[in-house]
Amino acid sequence: MPATEPIYFVGLGSNLLVRDGGLPGTVVFTHWALRQLRLEADGNEIYAEAGLPSPKVARFAALHGLAGAEFLAGIPGTVGGALAMNAGCHGGETWDIVARVRTVDRAGQLHDRAPAQYQVSYRTVLLKAEAGGIHPASRIPHPSEEWFVAAIFKLVRGDGAASREKIRELLTRRIATQPLNEPNAGSVFRNPTGDFAARLIEACGLKGHAIGGAAISPKHANFIVNRRDACAADIEALIECALAAVKAKFGIELEREVRIIGEAK
Ligand SMILES: Cc1cc2nc3c(=O)[nH]c(=O)nc-3n(C[C@H](O)[C@H](O)[C@H](O)COP(=O)(O)OP(=O)(O)OC[C@H]3O[C@@H](n4cnc5c(N)ncnc54)[C@H](O)[C@@H]3O)c2cc1C
Repeated sequence: MPATEPIYFVGLGSNLLVRDGGLPGTVVFTHWALRQLRLEADGNEIYAEAGLPSPKVARFAALHGLAGAEFLAGIPGTVGGALAMNAGCHGGETWDIVARVRTVDRAGQLHDRAPAQYQVSYRTVLLKAEAGGIHPASRIPHPSEEWFVAAIFKLVRGDGAASREKIRELLTRRIATQPLNEPNAGSVFRNPTGDFAARLIEACGLKGHAIGGAAISPKHANFIVNRRDACAADIEALIECALAAVKAKFGIELEREVRIIGEAK
C-alpha cells in the first residue's frame, strides 16, 4: 500500500458522520474481524480485541465478578472506538481501566504500548511525541499512524450481581433520556465547561428543527436523528445551524464531539 494512501479504521460508526461523497482511501472495518475476548491468567485483567462491542466487555466483566467496566455498557461502539475516543459515561472513562494496548502500524507491525505513552484527555487520545505520534518539529498533535488492535483492561474484584444491576440502571436511564429508537451518532457536541450543549440548543428553540430527513431530537437536543433517508449534508447543515444559533444567543462556540470524515458530493 502506498505510504500516502489514507487509512481509516471504523468500528461501529457510532461516533461518525461520513460525508455523501465517501472516503478516499482504505477503510478497515474491525467489527467482524477482531473479536477475541478472554480473562487473563491473573483473573483481574480482560483481553478484548478492537472489534468487540464495548457493552459485551461490560457484561463479560460482570459475569466474571470484575468491577469497573460497567460504564462500557452505555457506549454503543467497539473497543477500538472507545480507545480512540476515550469514550466514557456515568463517571467512567475508557483509559481509566486500560493496563496496556496493542496497536498495528501501516507496515503491519504490532506494538504493545502502555497508557503513559498516550496523551489522554476528554474524548481525545494521541500517541506522545517520543512514541512517534505528535509531530516533533511543530508539536502540533496529529492522528497517529497506529490503530488499536486490542486492549488489556485492568479491573478489580467485585460483586457480579451488583455490576449487573448497575448496568441495568444505566441502560434504563439512557432509554429514558436518549432517542435510541432512531439512528443517531450520539452527542453531537461536547458540553462546554459548566453548561450542557443540549440545554443551550434547546434554549435556542431548535428541538425538533429539521433539515431534509434529519432533525434535532425532540427527546434530547444534543442528538441529531435520521428521520427518513437523511443525507450527511442534511446532518452537517443542522450541526452548523445549532453552532451558529448558540454562538449568536450565548456567545459560546460549541465543539463537535461527532467526527466528520470523507468528501462532500
Ligand atoms: C446512542 C449513542 C450514545 C452514545 N453515548 C456515548 C457516551 O455516553 N459516551 C461516549 O463517550 N460516547 C458515546 N457515544 C459515541 C460513540 O458510541 C463512542 O464514541 C464509541 O466509542 C465509538 O465507537 P465506534 O466503534 O462506533 O467508533 P467509530 O464511530 O467507528 O469511530 C470513532 C473514531 O474512532 C476511530 N477508531 C475506531 N476504531 C479504531 C481502532 N481500532 N483504532 C484506531 N481508531 C479507531 C475512528 O477512526 C473514528 O475516528 C454514543 C453514541 C450513540 C449512537
